[in-house]
Amino acid sequence: MDQYAVFGNPIAQSKSPFIHKSFAKETDQILDYRAILAPTDSFHESLEAFFADSNAKGCNVTMPFKEQAAQWVDELSPAAKIAGAVNTIMRKGDGTFWGDTTDGYGLTMDLVQYGIQLEGKRILLIGAGGAARGVIIPIMERNPSALVIANRTEQKALTLASLVKENWVSGCTFEELDQLDAFDLIINSTSASLSNVLPSVSEEVISRAEAVYDMVYLPEPTIFMQHANDLGVKKTIDGLGMLVGQAAKSFSIWRGVEPNCKPVLEQLRKAL
Ligand code: NDP
Repeated sequence: MDQYAVFGNPIAQSKSPFIHKSFAKETDQILDYRAILAPTDSFHESLEAFFADSNAKGCNVTMPFKEQAAQWVDELSPAAKIAGAVNTIMRKGDGTFWGDTTDGYGLTMDLVQYGIQLEGKRILLIGAGGAARGVIIPIMERNPSALVIANRTEQKALTLASLVKENWVSGCTFEELDQLDAFDLIINSTSASLSNVLPSVSEEVISRAEAVYDMVYLPEPTIFMQHANDLGVKKTIDGLGMLVGQAAKSFSIWRGVEPNCKPVLEQLRKAL
């Protein structure tokens, strides 16, 4: 049977085995998918042990190994090159390994589900960590009119913006956002909501947005979503759909079929 897995540390919390087994059932694909706890000092060895089995066709990679995975593969997708990180590895027909990052696809697919278009819109991306790096190219491919990356540590925002070399993509501090025109969509890619804190972006900046997306998902709307709601933002969305969307993209890369995200998303939402 074809073998797939997700590598991480910790990994017990991962929803990927449930998601991929559900996709396999729904699309009549015969495969196994398991979670593998890789030691932090020997991730490459764990990958090699897994792929020593010729039935091992691909894997997902989660924290803290995404950057190491990008170094291990033979070839990177354009988005993975910018991200410097890989969450999906595929064994190609010639035996070499190809790495991609599907988080950005998951994000843009979820935004479409919510009726949010990026074309011609002004987008603010808060945060410049691994999650932000992974979504830059898919956002840019939707042709927004401006993409501003704002981060607590300014240098990281400036570095990320400079990687893409487009004059409509820029980086700045949270304070500098007050001088800019309103944004249509604000995407929070920081981990702040996990600690129940808000990034220090002014209320004025947030209140002028039409929609707010928080990559974090929790049983209740995140503190960032609640804050935006209180400021009158009409649409506030969490990152659960992004999680399922990135998995769907991995699945279609490996299996060549597009799974239906909706039933899995509904089950995950109930179980949060
Ligand atoms: P990183 O550790 O690489 O980056 C964290 C980012 O959050 C940095 O930009 C950091 O700023 C910022 N940050 C953290 N705390 C605060 C704070 N209190 N105020 C302002 N900024 C803060 O993490 P990732 O980028 O990999 O992940 C970020 C989040 O995205 C995680 O919570 C993760 O769960 C979520 N995520 C969700 C996915 C999904 O499918 N829904 C997929 C991937 C990630 P600084 O640089 O100044 O430290």
